Amino acid sequence: MKDDTRLVTAGRDPFAHYGAVNVPVYRASTILHETVAEMDAANAARSRGEQVTVYGRSGTPTIFSFANAIAEIEGGYRTYCFPSGMAAIAAAITACVKTGDHILVADCAYGPTRLFCDGALKRFGIETTYFDPAGRIDALLRPNTRAVFLEAPGSHTFEIQDVPAIAEAAHRAGAKVLMDNTWATPLFFKALAHGVDISIQSATKYIVGHADAMLGTATATKEVWSQLHDSAYQFGQCASPDDIYLAQRGLRTLGARLKQHQASALIVADWLRGRPEIAQVLYPALPGAPGHDIWKRDFLGASGLFAVEFAPSTDTAVNAFLDQLELFGLGASWGGFESLALPGKVKHARTASPWTFKGPLVRFHIGLEAVDDLISDLKEGFTAFNAAK
Ligand SMILES: *Cc1c(COP(=O)(O)O)cnc(C)c1O
Repeated sequence: MKDDTRLVTAGRDPFAHYGAVNVPVYRASTILHETVAEMDAANAARSRGEQVTVYGRSGTPTIFSFANAIAEIEGGYRTYCFPSGMAAIAAAITACVKTGDHILVADCAYGPTRLFCDGALKRFGIETTYFDPAGRIDALLRPNTRAVFLEAPGSHTFEIQDVPAIAEAAHRAGAKVLMDNTWATPLFFKALAHGVDISIQSATKYIVGHADAMLGTATATKEVWSQLHDSAYQFGQCASPDDIYLAQRGLRTLGARLKQHQASALIVADWLRGRPEIAQVLYPALPGAPGHDIWKRDFLGASGLFAVEFAPSTDTAVNAFLDQLELFGLGASWGGFESLALPGKVKHARTASPWTFKGPLVRFHIGLEAVDDLISDLKEGFTAFNAAK
């Protein structure tokens, strides 16, 4: 079965729900049982890891169905759902470490991931070393390194990592490999097939796809599933059935949306590359862009998020560019149907790799608007930029 078909069928069972095409929202905390014997049996089944309803926090049909669909598309054993992508990241790391351990984190990781490592993890006596995403990790692995955390490409600077090579070195040293796979989604990067043990999604982005809910998922191999599940469950992690419902609805159209995001992003990125104001475009799908060769080797597609490096210019000029844009909203997040632009002020968050950019960075999310309209909007932005220079 191809992924486009899986996106439609995975996790659905209409005749278990009165024929409804989508699994309904089951709002439940208490789950009733007819007899004590049935309650005991359900609890025993739950402790064996079976998907049975015993209490709202441990799952309802809404959650099981969505989690199973994500697991199937990620190519993993099972998926745990979280109230946000960040909760999924924190839980996946926490599941792999104890006091005295050490982890490696790609220097291009999402800012709040670094905050977690430098804050909560440090407080619990777990040390983080950041590594240059372009380099090798072999020399950084220690006897107590338990996890290597990747984000490919980095969601501001778009460094690709050689995931199979890193995974091979990590596993040889007895460390688990965790990856923030939000950019590619499970459609465009098969993280587990490339050696990753836990693939994490901020489902808030492309899976929800409509900028209206927060959700995270972590999908594990069979080997690490109980470790992930038990740790997350002990911390009380669970997601709202209403948000899960929105995510399962988004999931059904993910394939169609991503194809369009990719096609439009390639056109806009290529157009931006030809502008005199732009020094380089950071989009691994673009031939000649940083990371293109590894992207082509390992990835099945590219989403609609990329950045540009402006030729050296003032903040005033870049702000004039951003303020002028009408179709590109100014705000955090991405993966919805609408276009966004954001200044890429992440230089302070690089500690293990050289900052090679001479001009300011701006990140674009290319939405589902007509590409000609987006380019016209950007042209107006450049006019404002040049007037403010
Ligand atoms: C947004 C984002 C997250 C965090 O997800 P939330 O759902 O906002 O908590 C993690 N990683 C990347 C790459 C993101 O863009």
